[in-house]
Amino acid sequence: MSSTFYVEILTPERKFFWGDVETIIVKTPTGEMGILKGHIPTVVVIDIGSIKIKKNGKWFEAVLSEGFMEVKQDQAIILVDTAEWPDEIDINRAKAAKARAEERLQRQRSETEYIQSKAALARAMARLKVKGK
Ligand code: ATP
Repeated sequence: MSSTFYVEILTPERKFFWGDVETIIVKTPTGEMGILKGHIPTVVVIDIGSIKIKKNGKWFEAVLSEGFMEVKQDQAIILVDTAEWPDEIDINRAKAAKARAEERLQRQRSETEYIQSKAALARAMARLKVKGK
């Protein structure tokens, strides 16, 4: 019996990933969550961070930003703002984004700007982490 389930990761720009996998581990606001075939139906918030995908016995990692995941009938559909594989990540761009966000966080600004800067910092740090920098 197959122990795989179907996963699709979509962004507004592209169909980032689709296929049958053994496991995924996603980041949620309350911690990491692993999904295997037969998981109960659920909808969870996806937090900025890495997703780990086990396909054909091998692990792959990518960076996702905010979104949602719906799990039902042996499939998981993930809708996120952005997604990148490590080899797509531009380190200098992420470092510059990190510096900009840190600089913005130093200043007293509106709550909206604070939240936006925190999210930009988290995206940049997640990209650098997956890239190993
Ligand atoms: P920046 O300020 O550098 O645009 P950002 O975090 O605001 O960073 P996003 O809005 O999350 O950028 O992403 C916009 C688009 O650019 C998405 O397609 C995303 O995949 C891509 N992207 C963002 N940062 C990088 C990066 N460092 N390397 C490669 N692609 C990136």
